[in-house]
Amino acid sequence: MTLEFETIAAISTPPGEGAIGIVRLSGEQAIEIADRVYKSGSKALAEQKSHTIHYGHIENPKTNETIDEVMVSVMREPRTFTREDVVEINCHGGITSVNQVLQCVLQNGARLAEPGEFTKRAFLNGRIDLSQAEAVMDLIRAKTDRAMHVALKQLDGNLSHLIRNLRVDILDTLAQVEVNIDYPEYDDVEEMTSKLLIEKAKLVKASIQLLLETASQGKILREGLATAIIGRPNVGKSSLLNYLLDEEKAIVTDIAGTTRDVIEEYISVKGVPLKLVDTAGIRETEDIIERIGVERSRQALSDADLVLLVFNQSEPLTIEDKALIEATSQHHRIIILNKMDLPNKLDLTELETLVDQESIVKTSILSKSGVDVLEKKIADLFFTGQTGERDATYVSNVRHIALLNDAEEALDEVINGVEAGMPVDLIQIDMTRCWDLLGEITGDSVQDELLTQLFSQFCLGK
Ligand code: GDP
Repeated sequence: MTLEFETIAAISTPPGEGAIGIVRLSGEQAIEIADRVYKSGSKALAEQKSHTIHYGHIENPKTNETIDEVMVSVMREPRTFTREDVVEINCHGGITSVNQVLQCVLQNGARLAEPGEFTKRAFLNGRIDLSQAEAVMDLIRAKTDRAMHVALKQLDGNLSHLIRNLRVDILDTLAQVEVNIDYPEYDDVEEMTSKLLIEKAKLVKASIQLLLETASQGKILREGLATAIIGRPNVGKSSLLNYLLDEEKAIVTDIAGTTRDVIEEYISVKGVPLKLVDTAGIRETEDIIERIGVERSRQALSDADLVLLVFNQSEPLTIEDKALIEATSQHHRIIILNKMDLPNKLDLTELETLVDQESIVKTSILSKSGVDVLEKKIADLFFTGQTGERDATYVSNVRHIALLNDAEEALDEVINGVEAGMPVDLIQIDMTRCWDLLGEITGDSVQDELLTQLFSQFCLGK
């Protein structure tokens, strides 16, 4: 059964040119509204079987104008994404046609969907839980295959399943505690109950900690490893950048809302997403000395998870090189000795007293040698000690991480409370809080504002 809502509509394909564009409608009147604008030689959509697709035209009954030649899918609830009746109008791609079809259904009874409203309905109608809804959002934003893999797992309900099991455990314990208190068969009931609580709290805590251990990697998979390419002018930074961008299919994202649009560039190096920091700084090579000096690098450095520090090995180390080594000493870094095709002038023995030998990679970007070693080093840095990482349940969502941290804290209070000999009913409160917090991950206990805020982060049409 679905909740009653107005029928919503939006363009569900990305803006821009494409072979087709899809206008999607969802709600009780989806088929009726589509029929108002759909013309064909045969039956009305209302008379068609569910999950079928039909050829025809979109015509605005208000103006009698034919807008586009289309294929229309009819999908009746409940076997749809929103669990409501859904109609998808496949129009010709390009902005005008799709927009006109959308305007037409809006003029004929549908309301423009808010961002994420389709997914919100899927959640409210019980089709997916909250962490799955968030996975849809992650999928839309996924920057690499691996990030997509994590999101798909989550969409699959992997995380939800784990969390629900923990909640069942906690609930069982709380029920057991109630029973002990209400029907004390033994004299030492207080002691038994405390023991039960502390044991369970420790078990659940261990599971949460395991999940949280995946968090930093999950976050990186989701958001990219912020990477700064740093070095003196002319050592080959932009050559490296361009090489990586060419070889590794750049994914460029515009982030609006700043005075000038900042372009973020993502590359995937052996499945590890790198978010390149301050690439503008590298490219503006005119007033080089000032811009790419140590000062300039500091800003990029403060945001970086990984530093690629480039030297020209055909020149001796300079004071500036040493300053950069110093400035990046606290970062995960890879030292790149570039221009290996030229005679060596950099004193390697000296360099090895300043940096970890393991972190050094020799390249000639000009002759494309050594770059594969660099790529492998980046991947190794990320996946050290990780086995079977493809199958792990990653927690990658910031909201989930925060909730897991809070839940862990609540469990600490349970453990401390028992150890300090606090009354059981006070300890129960913390245990219940943990149960609630975990429920917020799956959306089993969740507030309205949170939902509105979460779903508004979606793209329009999802
Ligand atoms: P940036 O100022 O650090 O960004 O350096 P660029 O990438 O602009 O490179 C400066 C110059 O060095 C350019 O002329 C590149 O073609 C050249 N260059 C880059 N990598 C190599 C290399 O591996 N070997 C040689 N011989 N030249 C290189």
